[in-house]
Amino acid sequence: MPTIFSKIIAREIPADIVYEDEQCLAFKDIHPQAPVHVLIVPKREIARLADAQAGDQALLGHLMLAAGKIARQLGVDDAFRIVISNGAEAGQTVFHLHLHLLAGKHFSER
Ligand code: AMP
Repeated sequence: MPTIFSKIIAREIPADIVYEDEQCLAFKDIHPQAPVHVLIVPKREIARLADAQAGDQALLGHLMLAAGKIARQLGVDDAFRIVISNGAEAGQTVFHLHLHLLAGKHFSER
């Protein structure tokens, strides 16, 4: 079943898009947890990180490189955090793999 992120990728529902390339889309989180909070979503739907296969290796690497590129674009490349929630008990609410890029606040060690 398509997730809300697939609908954003298909432009069926709006989002504040900050970056797009052939493999991923990045847009602002609707409930930001930091001054900069962007979601980086692969266009090919993988439900959870744990569902990724060996054939997804290049895509997963691409998402990491995109994260660095987006951080530079947003001027936060000296201090940002990447978070991936895997599974409902870890806080995952949208079952379409995504990276949270968080920046603009001090992150404690906890
Ligand atoms: P997670 O809880 O790790 O699965 O992250 C899902 C994130 O998607 C949450 O931070 C939500 O605030 C965000 N989210 C849900 N719906 C939308 C939407 N329509 N546009 C932007 N962000 C959304």
